[in-house]
Amino acid sequence: MKFNVKKTWWAPEDVTLVKKAIRFAAGALGLKNLDLTIYLGKPNKKYFGFSGYDDANGYEIWIYPSDDKTQVALSIFHEMTHVKQQWCGELDLEYFVPRWKGRKCKAKYKNQPWEIEAHKMEVILYEDWKRMVNVAQW
Ligand SMILES: [Zn+2]
Repeated sequence: MKFNVKKTWWAPEDVTLVKKAIRFAAGALGLKNLDLTIYLGKPNKKYFGFSGYDDANGYEIWIYPSDDKTQVALSIFHEMTHVKQQWCGELDLEYFVPRWKGRKCKAKYKNQPWEIEAHKMEVILYEDWKRMVNVAQW
């Protein structure tokens, strides 16, 4: 497992926790030997995070800070679920129309099966994560 963290804004203790949360999620999602680039961005009103994969850059996620630390954790687990989906070949966003499990999927955001799964998994992973760490740190 190799994490390459690019940060522009975040406090060192938050970076440590983010790395811990990502390591935890990678283990829980079965992502062995994942090489991941993590961009910790500046505050942003539009996004909590997003993720991507391409042959040149490999797996990447972007996470944005929030005063609500629970939201940060949920975003990490959400984006890590998308990494898992791409890792397992379930989700392919390299086409104009995304592919889910080998089929074209034109569903709108809230009905996209990968979003439904990511919204479910972020809560499941967060509940497990909460039991492991002192959430007051967040
Ligand atoms: Zn999503």
